[in-house]
Amino acid sequence: MVEKSAEDAIQAAAADLLRHYTLGSEFETYLAHLKGNDLVLGVALIENHEQAALETAKQISDLFRQPFLTASGSLGANLAIGVAVADPSDWNPELILENAELAVEDACEKELRQISLFVPSMRAKYEHRERIRSSLTAAFENDEFVPHFQPQFNLKTGKIIGIEALARWKHSRFGWISPAEFISAAESTGDINRLGRSILEKSCMQLRRLPDEMTLSVNLTLSQILDESLPEMLLECLTDTGIKGYRLKIEISETQLSKNLDKIWRVLSEIQECGIAVSLDDFGTKFAALRHLTEFDWDEIKIDGSFVDRAFNNEKHAEMLLATLNLIANMGISTVIEGVETVEQRDALVELGCGLGQGYLFSGPLDFDDLMTLFFSRPQLEELVSV
Ligand code: C2E
Ligand code: CA
Ligand code: CA
Repeated sequence: MVEKSAEDAIQAAAADLLRHYTLGSEFETYLAHLKGNDLVLGVALIENHEQAALETAKQISDLFRQPFLTASGSLGANLAIGVAVADPSDWNPELILENAELAVEDACEKELRQISLFVPSMRAKYEHRERIRSSLTAAFENDEFVPHFQPQFNLKTGKIIGIEALARWKHSRFGWISPAEFISAAESTGDINRLGRSILEKSCMQLRRLPDEMTLSVNLTLSQILDESLPEMLLECLTDTGIKGYRLKIEISETQLSKNLDKIWRVLSEIQECGIAVSLDDFGTKFAALRHLTEFDWDEIKIDGSFVDRAFNNEKHAEMLLATLNLIANMGISTVIEGVETVEQRDALVELGCGLGQGYLFSGPLDFDDLMTLFFSRPQLEELVSV
């Protein structure tokens, strides 16, 4: 974790560097923010010539490629630069600065950060996000969050073995809103734990109607995992709904495992001690880190659909998938393959020895009534044959 003093030192050193670099030039620069642990340095750059501004942004970005000296030693920062171009006849400093900051945010979302030029759609996206954030309180009051459920299948027999709860928001004005939009909003307003509890309680209540051998998987974000009261909340919920711990799995995405690892392993172990299974989600989305497999005693690894897709298109990736599956199996951990969309994929996965999967081939997320319809329309199937 980056100490506050190091953060301040980077900010001060970066400000000096930028001041020096832009001294006497016509550019106006603004050190927007430094996102603590991520060492993201935002620079909003304002100019009235797009090309000149982009060139300056590139030069500043090159300056930060090397680690630089601060009072706390040599440090590196990821630089995100937002560029806003202003027309001198329409000079509104506050608005221009806001535009540049929106461009910085956009640059932060890019994989390699770097430089973003402000475009009006960034403001529209920001305004939509603000509308979502500001309607969260009313959504809790009106009880607008519900879980949908995606069934998980035995790839060979087609039998449903469990369900994954996926949160949905039925917004009174905007209709159904995807979790991709509201989970991060709930995190930024501090509502994520309340949301998580509501989804968990509702899902456990529904699970009571399904056979005892069926499991329920719920997703948790990093901030939920890092919340001290999580194990207690999970236990309370199990007691209140009468669900046994072995029926519950919590999922954490591999994409969230970059910092606070010791604390994460501690909390996850505590959860396992309560008899709840712990699953590593989205494994192989980018660079599957083998150390994540060894540093914690996972009960389950969920292989991301993109890993499978890559394996279908490239022999080296296919070998990597096979080696990964063997490694996980040899470690005694079970696997679930996500995003199974075609019969060909299902057949090839069965051939590779994969047991469990979920995806549109079988079913997307369903509301509970539709899940029950699916469940009762699928008596124990005979083993499916690969062709
Ligand atoms: P996830 O946990 O990886 O969930 C799988 C996502 O893939 C779901 O999107 C699901 O609808 C979608 N999906 C299912 N089958 C297929 C398929 O065959 N192909 C493709 N391309 N996609 C498929 P959804 O429901 O939009 O959820 C997005 C993400 O939001 C989830 O990704 C999860 O990380 C997060 N999320 C959902 N519900 C919750 C929640 O209650 N709490 C938290 N903290 N996060 C949640
Ligand atoms: Ca998941
Ligand atoms: Ca996933």
